[in-house]
Amino acid sequence: MLVEELQTPALLVERAVLRHNLDTMSAALPGLRLRPHVKAHKCTSLARLQHANGHRGFTCATIREVEAMAAAGLGEDLLLANEVLDTRRLGRLVQDGHRVTVAVDSAETIEAAAAGGVREVVIDVNVGLPRCGCAPAAAGSLADLARKTGLSVRGVMGYEGHLMLVQSQDERREQTGQAMEQLLAASADVGGDLISAGGTGTYAVNTWATEIQAGSYALMDTAYQKLGQPFQQALSVLGRVISVSPEWAVVDVGLKSLSLDHGLPSIEGAKVWFCSDEHTTFSTEDGTRPAVGDLIRVLPAHVDPTVALHDTLYLVDGEQVLERWPVDMRGWQ
Ligand code: PLP
Ligand code: MN
Repeated sequence: MLVEELQTPALLVERAVLRHNLDTMSAALPGLRLRPHVKAHKCTSLARLQHANGHRGFTCATIREVEAMAAAGLGEDLLLANEVLDTRRLGRLVQDGHRVTVAVDSAETIEAAAAGGVREVVIDVNVGLPRCGCAPAAAGSLADLARKTGLSVRGVMGYEGHLMLVQSQDERREQTGQAMEQLLAASADVGGDLISAGGTGTYAVNTWATEIQAGSYALMDTAYQKLGQPFQQALSVLGRVISVSPEWAVVDVGLKSLSLDHGLPSIEGAKVWFCSDEHTTFSTEDGTRPAVGDLIRVLPAHVDPTVALHDTLYLVDGEQVLERWPVDMRGWQ
């Protein structure tokens, strides 16, 4: 099948670029040093390539992702890096022999983990992102409580998400070091051997965590591209020019097929004016006029929420469609 035969909008992954990204990351963080985050692609076919590259443990954001990974035979060591209160679906996976570890940051989430049949937890520590995680000084007593409740505590996690897009690499390293100091202090109180943290923005500067939870590196987005990371944008939303005026053209990719939370998408050789529900208006930098029907690859600024809008990823090599991958970790049910 050819790319031009696809209905638009369609999500494309350029195989050679994906390969480059996966191999570059696996060389920097081999084996267990990387616990790829699947929320960025929500696709077990892609996770299988990461597994084949030697990464046996994965990070998940939702129960649905954990279940889909287990169903795909990738349930050797799944970390749900989020607090959840109804853990019964996770407990069933544990019963079936999958290894599922869940993040906890309160007495309530510890109680919930035990009640649903989860046996292993990590203590989630707040290292500066105003989101989940206990105060570093509270981690030790939460670990004691978890052990008293019958859970095994594998260690700590602390996601420095507020530092991912710090533009200067030196500054990012410095601030990551300060955040990880808090995580290491918590780790000393908690015990266990996991110190899980990091993402695509900090994978190269976070030398304190035992494992890095990066996910976006596989597909990459414009926000991360601007940091000068050694990964390239593999993901685009294919659209067709549906209308042309003397000053601008319109492609049939809008905010319902592309996330705008990190800003406007980009189009090579063009200036993007704005996006609406089903449209992106752009003009070419050299003033040439696109023709109605032209195929355009629109590069999203943020991959994770873009992928979550689609059912299918098309793996392509230039104009050839190689494979059709279901985005099978989508949704919550
Ligand atoms: N870990 C957690 C808990 C996250 O929420 C995220 C992304 O938001 C990541 C790691 C890293 O992901 P990325 O590689 O996309 O920065
Ligand atoms: Mn993201």
